[in-house]
Amino acid sequence: MYTLDNLTARIITCKKCPRLAKYIRTIAKEKVRRYNDWKYWGRPLPGFGDPYANLLVIGLAPAAHGGNRTGRMFTGDSSGDWLMRALHESGFANQYTSEKKDDGLILKNVYITAIVRCAPPKNKPVTYEIENCSRYLAEELKLLKNVKVVLTLGTLAFNTYASLRKIKGLKFIHAASYDLTDIILIASYHPSRQNTQTGRLKWNEWIDVFRKINDVIN
Ligand code: SF4
Repeated sequence: MYTLDNLTARIITCKKCPRLAKYIRTIAKEKVRRYNDWKYWGRPLPGFGDPYANLLVIGLAPAAHGGNRTGRMFTGDSSGDWLMRALHESGFANQYTSEKKDDGLILKNVYITAIVRCAPPKNKPVTYEIENCSRYLAEELKLLKNVKVVLTLGTLAFNTYASLRKIKGLKFIHAASYDLTDIILIASYHPSRQNTQTGRLKWNEWIDVFRKINDVIN
């Protein structure tokens, strides 16, 4: 029988995408000066959080010096800072920071994953890498049985989720929600530095998404 644990074991040893498998190991070896004293994770990342969660958050991919360094998604980078602060303010996390694996973070009623598990160069996975890796997301969708709301971060996560569900005609619009009968799908801009520093995603718009989620769940 498949479980999240054996899915995790398969993900962290996966080398299906040669370009990404090489890239994450190279980054882990070369590092950046500010993290020179870190032993980088340098492997693919599984999802994490509450296996009985009502909320599933789907991101794009780990960051080269964030998740690829710390060994946990949305951990040790600015996207993680935004996500965790919002989850904490909305009651889904016991703390508002996500810095390293043993930082005491406990997620409540939320599970976090991504469409691609290896950090891609320039945060841009190519089509075959998304196709390869979204098979793991498809397995997660089957294993996470209590999900009521799916929050997709960015257009690629939104389109990949719709494609896995074989749903056509949905349009990515920030904060739009779609009733898919079994779950409510909510789209949001990704809280990447590129969006938060340019003002494309403002804090009040971001936190409103989580208010909407709580309205559905509670
Ligand atoms: S991106 Fe996904 S499918 Fe590709 S090597 Fe990494 S874990 Fe495997």
